[in-house]
Amino acid sequence: MATKVPLPRRTFLATAAAACVVRGHSAASPTVGVSPSILVSGGAMMRGARFAPSVEDVMRAHFGSVRQLALVLHATHSSERDAMEARLRAAFRELGVPTVQSLHRRDEPGAVALLRAADGIFIGGGETFVLLAELQRTGQLALIRERAVAGVPCGGSSAGANVIGRRIGTTNDFPVTEVASRDALGLLPVTINPHHPASTQEADFRVRAGKIRGYLRFNPGERVLALGDAAVVRLHAGTARLAAGQGWVYEAGRDRELVAGVPVPELVETTG
Ligand code: ASP
Repeated sequence: MATKVPLPRRTFLATAAAACVVRGHSAASPTVGVSPSILVSGGAMMRGARFAPSVEDVMRAHFGSVRQLALVLHATHSSERDAMEARLRAAFRELGVPTVQSLHRRDEPGAVALLRAADGIFIGGGETFVLLAELQRTGQLALIRERAVAGVPCGGSSAGANVIGRRIGTTNDFPVTEVASRDALGLLPVTINPHHPASTQEADFRVRAGKIRGYLRFNPGERVLALGDAAVVRLHAGTARLAAGQGWVYEAGRDRELVAGVPVPELVETTG
């Protein structure tokens, strides 16, 4: 077991909210004290045009009161975005979300307007580096962060979950395009690894765990949140919990499996 260095602890997102106000962003009317609502999935959470039954409850709790959802589908190949939008629209309508619109139908000012108007944001999976590059190029990275810090429910699956973490480091994706930096939205104080093999898939599990531990040997200051297929972690009202599937927190020299429903303080507070 590694010994933790007792650095000053602070509430990660409270700090982020304060920073947002200091930067003077106004459109989202950020309010210090607003507690962000953030959901991440390890991917493979859909069954056709519906969410898997195991994730439906937490998806409804997170997005059920949203009236206008913005979909961020940059990670999907452009030839498949219309179809992905249709599937997600159907799935979110089942949860009671009436209006679901993808940024890809708009020009850049229109996409910004949609992100400012939406009261929920969902970032889909696919190619992580393409997604991050587009978020950086368009300035949507800062805007989505601003909206989420202001309390707009935000969620991402797989590549979409990767960018919700602090930086891209433990994606399973190849770097198919350049990115200006690996810094991501930073809405959870972790580096994310989606599609983590289940503990029952022993050989695959060991290989993945070994890769993540190797990553942490070179990046000992980071913490990795690994999520299995159809696993969901939700941060809400200041508490993060595993709501579905299997999840693990890896730190340099130690790791642990998350227990469903039990608070995960590492996802709320940081030593950084
Ligand atoms: N390509 C994956 C997805 O979005 C992301 C990953 O595995 O890191 O499905």
